[in-house]
Amino acid sequence: MGYPKLVIDRRKLFQNAKNVLRIATEKNIRIMGVVKAVNGNEEIIDVLIKAGYTLLSSSRLPQLKTIKEKDARIETCALRIPMLSELREVVQWADISLNSSLEVLRALNQEAASQKKVHKVILMTDLGDLREGFFKEEDLLEAAKMVEEECNSLYLLGIGVNLGCYGSIIPTREKMEELCERAEKINQLIHRKLEVVSGGATTSFPLVAKGLMPEGITQLRIGDGLFVSDLDECFGYKMFESEQEAFVLKAEIIEVREKPSHPIGEIGVDAFGNKKVYIDKGNHIRALIAVGRQDLGDCHHLQPLDSHLEVIGGSSDHTILDITNCEKKYQVGDVVKFHIMYENLLMLCQSTYVEKEFVGEILC
Ligand SMILES: *Cc1c(COP(=O)(O)O)cnc(C)c1O
Repeated sequence: MGYPKLVIDRRKLFQNAKNVLRIATEKNIRIMGVVKAVNGNEEIIDVLIKAGYTLLSSSRLPQLKTIKEKDARIETCALRIPMLSELREVVQWADISLNSSLEVLRALNQEAASQKKVHKVILMTDLGDLREGFFKEEDLLEAAKMVEEECNSLYLLGIGVNLGCYGSIIPTREKMEELCERAEKINQLIHRKLEVVSGGATTSFPLVAKGLMPEGITQLRIGDGLFVSDLDECFGYKMFESEQEAFVLKAEIIEVREKPSHPIGEIGVDAFGNKKVYIDKGNHIRALIAVGRQDLGDCHHLQPLDSHLEVIGGSSDHTILDITNCEKKYQVGDVVKFHIMYENLLMLCQSTYVEKEFVGEILC
C-alpha cells in the first residue's frame, strides 16, 4: 500500500512512556495507560507493557478484550460510563469501570453477581468540566454509600474526575484539593480509606511533574501524553522534546502547481458545509498530498517537519500545502513528513487507509 503511512518508533514510545511512569512513581502516583487514541493497537500495547504498565484502559470495550487476550495479568479499566446494553462485556473485559449513575451501578452489580465476579468501580464526580460525573456532592456520597452497603458484587475502589475534555477546565491544584476533600468525606462515611483518587488525564500531569499535585491524588489516566507532546501551548509543559516524537505521518505529493491563494468565483461553503474566509496572498506554489480529513481529522493540527511548509487546508481526501518558501524543490511523488496532535493520532490509528510501520527496537 505505501502512503499515507504512520511511522511509529518503538524505542521513542517506550522511552516516553517509561519516563511518564518514572516521574509519577516518584510522587507515589500510579499511571493508568489509556490506549483508545491508538485504537488499542497491539504492538503499542506490547510496548506499554514492556515499559512497565500494569493497568491499561480504553473507552472501547473490544480494545480491553485485546489487552486481556494478550496478557490476562494486566488490569483493565473501562473509561466511558457504561451503556446499560454493554454491561455483560464490561464485567467480562474490564476489572474496573468509571461510573456516574445509580441505575447503572445497580445493574452492574447484578451482572457481576451473575458472572460470579467482584467488579471494581470508580465513581466519577464533576468539578465543572461538565461531561460525566456526579455533580452534587451529596449525590456522590449517596452513590458511594449505596455501592459500599448494598452492592455485594461491586467494590468501591475510589473516585475520579475528568477535566479539560468538554469544558476546557484546567486541572489546578485547587480542583485536585476539591477532589481530595470529596474522597475524604467518603472515607469518613464508609469508615475506610478509598484506594484510588483519580485526578484526571494528561492535562493533570504537569501538576505532578512540577511537584504541585496534592498528596491525596493516587492515580492519573494518561493517553495523549504517552504518544504526542501537544500540551505545551496551554499548559506550559512539554511531555517530551520534538526529537522524541514517536509518531510521524508520511504523505505523498500528487500535484505541485502555482495558483492564486484566493478562490475565484462566487463563494459558498466548503465540502463540510463551513463558510470560510480566504486570505489573498497573491500567487503561491501549492502542493497537494494524498491524505485528508477522512484519515486524520483537522489538517491544521499537523506540524510539518519542514518548517518552511505551511498547511493551508484540505478536504476528505486531500491536504493542501503552501510550499512557496521551502528550500527543497518538492515534486510529484515526494514524501512530506509531519508530527501530529491528538485528533490526528486518533483518526490515523483507526483508519484502514493508513499504513502503520513500526521502526526502532526497545533498548531495556
Ligand atoms: C480519554 C480519557 C482519558 C485519557 O485522556 P488523555 O487526554 O488521552 O490523557 C482519561 N479519562 C477518561 C475518562 C477518558 O475518557
